[in-house]
Amino acid sequence: MRRIKYSIKFLLASILFYSGFLRLYKILFFKNKAIILMYHRILGNFEHNHSYSHDGIIVNTNSFKKQIKFLSRNFNILTIDNFSTHIKENKPFDGTSCLITFDDGWHDNYKNAFPILKLYNTAAHIFLPVHFISNTDNFWQEKLNRYMSHICHNPNLFSDFINNHHLQEFILLEKTEIKISIRNYISKLKACSPEEIKHLLEQYETEMVAKNCMAPANEIDTYLNWPLIRKMQEDSISFGSHAISHHMLTKLDKHQLEHELYESRRIIESQIGKTVNSIAYPNGNHDKIVCSASKQAGYELGFTTKHGYATASTDPLRIPRINIHEDMTKYIPLFYCRILGIF
Ligand SMILES: [Zn+2]
Repeated sequence: MRRIKYSIKFLLASILFYSGFLRLYKILFFKNKAIILMYHRILGNFEHNHSYSHDGIIVNTNSFKKQIKFLSRNFNILTIDNFSTHIKENKPFDGTSCLITFDDGWHDNYKNAFPILKLYNTAAHIFLPVHFISNTDNFWQEKLNRYMSHICHNPNLFSDFINNHHLQEFILLEKTEIKISIRNYISKLKACSPEEIKHLLEQYETEMVAKNCMAPANEIDTYLNWPLIRKMQEDSISFGSHAISHHMLTKLDKHQLEHELYESRRIIESQIGKTVNSIAYPNGNHDKIVCSASKQAGYELGFTTKHGYATASTDPLRIPRINIHEDMTKYIPLFYCRILGIF
């Protein structure tokens, strides 16, 4: 059923693209607007197969190359400074503009995305979660997935733990399906507090230590480091804050919130030698308190994950974006439909 739906969308997107309809649609409805794209990870096939990240944040390197080539030829690509000027001065965007952003500061942004951005002379803006930069620690989602996969791949050794934690459903699946099912399971834990997540991870770690069988490290799910960030900065890549711990800012108390906002800004500025005036709220979570605290901490631009487009009058602390992931953007007609909001 899913495949049929995809094929219908692909056929429809191709008709709209090759008939010239999408070009016309862009001219009519996107004049003086900016489309802000939100990427996370750019991975090759091997890397994708060995990553513990959710598919919703991954774009294939080949697809990304096609997308950047297309964007550079059909859109007015903005730097963060251009974008900021339009928003601050309420100045309409030129033609249809596009700002390319990345969340999370993954190492693949340097390894896979940066050479492509350079090839097409395209600016991009990367939001950094400071704790993870130049660090071997991982987001809890990737870490928990790695632990769970390891335990489910060794059902005999961890049988009691599997029973006690109701993980039986995963070990009955095919190997390739285990990772996908675990990813979906983890997505549902997003509502848990940082303390609950910490406690859960500790339970897994204690069990693996007790059995003297730790989950192997994963070299694909790693983050940028400061020297690479400085190197990218020399070449039209700019940087903003993605806070420190990647916790949802709306769940923190006043002191924690201020620490995340001020410290991340201070550390990035000291490492790159430039003023940081933008933040992407982790997981997109923001409210009145988070927005006004961000403004207070010196941020002029706050990026959300809310779907939408920017105009000269967009609220600078609630900027909407379009999330890009492989599923609906593999082919340019589908990518074009996605960024214009058709489907
Ligand atoms: Zn993030």
